[in-house]
Amino acid sequence: MNDCIFCKIVAGEIPSAKVYEDDEILIFKDIAPIAKIHLLCVPKEHFAYLSEVDAERADLLGRTLEKIGKLQQKLGLNDGYRLVVNQGENAGQTVHHLHIHILGGESLPWGK
Ligand code: AMP
Ligand code: ZN
Repeated sequence: MNDCIFCKIVAGEIPSAKVYEDDEILIFKDIAPIAKIHLLCVPKEHFAYLSEVDAERADLLGRTLEKIGKLQQKLGLNDGYRLVVNQGENAGQTVHHLHIHILGGESLPWGK
């Protein structure tokens, strides 16, 4: 059984505030935002780590970054934004389904 919370969100089994969806990615609002705009972009395919990326997934991630760039106006990110991908324990990754945090809507402090 797949207990992954983001797979459940992708499948519609857990509600989320969706802002964009296509056949390979979903973007929704983070439930505990740390910036005025805090979105999560997840590939629909389940994998947890960049170390699992092969050529096909690299293409998917490339298309995902291109898509975020194309959506920036619609997402209210024209003044700039930050993408964060937490990987493993030291980064505090809590959901083990690869996701890109999209942070913006205000000036973001830089730090650890
Ligand atoms: P990370 O620490 O990089 O694994 O990030 C996981 C993120 O998922 C956190 O920012 C959580 O607030 C967010 N999160 C967890 N559950 C949900 C949910 N049901 N809907 C939206 N965001 C969630
Ligand atoms: Zn998953």
